[in-house]
Amino acid sequence: MTVNITREKVVEATIDILRKAETELPDDVVEALNRAEIDESDPVAKAQIQGILENVRIAKENAVPMCQDTGILIFYVEIGRSLRLDFDLKDAITEGVRRATEAIPLRPNAVEPLTRKNSGDNTGSGLPDIKYELVEGDGLTITVAPKGAGSENMSTLTMLNPTEVGSIKNFILETVLNAGGMPCPPIIVGVGIGGSFDKAARLAKSALLSRLDEMNQFEREILDEINSLGIGPMGLGGSTTALAVHVRTAHCHTASLPVAVNIQCWANRHASITFGGDE
Ligand code: SF4
Repeated sequence: MTVNITREKVVEATIDILRKAETELPDDVVEALNRAEIDESDPVAKAQIQGILENVRIAKENAVPMCQDTGILIFYVEIGRSLRLDFDLKDAITEGVRRATEAIPLRPNAVEPLTRKNSGDNTGSGLPDIKYELVEGDGLTITVAPKGAGSENMSTLTMLNPTEVGSIKNFILETVLNAGGMPCPPIIVGVGIGGSFDKAARLAKSALLSRLDEMNQFEREILDEINSLGIGPMGLGGSTTALAVHVRTAHCHTASLPVAVNIQCWANRHASITFGGDE
């Protein structure tokens, strides 16, 4: 069956998922915060998590953004190989961003990097940032992940010596320690290992879309070590510095070992819509 996707449907879907992402945290993130609130024994840290949960509740109930920094807008698009569109997908998503900026509303965050001139509508050269992937079938899935600057600015990338595999964990812990309370903890830590200079960063960012309750042994070990650093919610101490760690890897050059750490604040916002496909 051919999927009928029009430009206007994509524009409206972009506004819808942006509204959802900005006003409603995904269930697994809320669950992780609820669990952390129960487990946290430090009273100040507990109160901080309660404050965050209250903020999340009010944002959802009133359909208002959960943070004043509504982020820059990162999109992940999965396009079915057999899908044919008779319009420019990038143009439709960009138009959705323009309209959403006014309708939700979103803070205009996009500036030209050198002149610092604000475009006023969250679009500009390279923004929204749209990453495309071809998949089987004839569906189209659009995911948006607004990214605030507070956590993004504390992210790091290093090109380790290939013999330094044993230093990867230390680099991650050092990044989190240096970030302290700046990225609004409890954080989610996305790690990209391998690939190339830019691929490692992309792996780290896309790792932030993983469900928080699905971690492997290596990720849990790093999480435990991060939570023993004592940074705590909003940097005020406690045992809840991070909610999850997700690591993604890719083969790399034999002479390289890129490692990227993308930090995400508690406002781990993302939402998706799928047209057609198997669902
Ligand atoms: S780091 Fe996150 S929670 Fe803190 S101000 Fe930025 S978007 Fe908001």
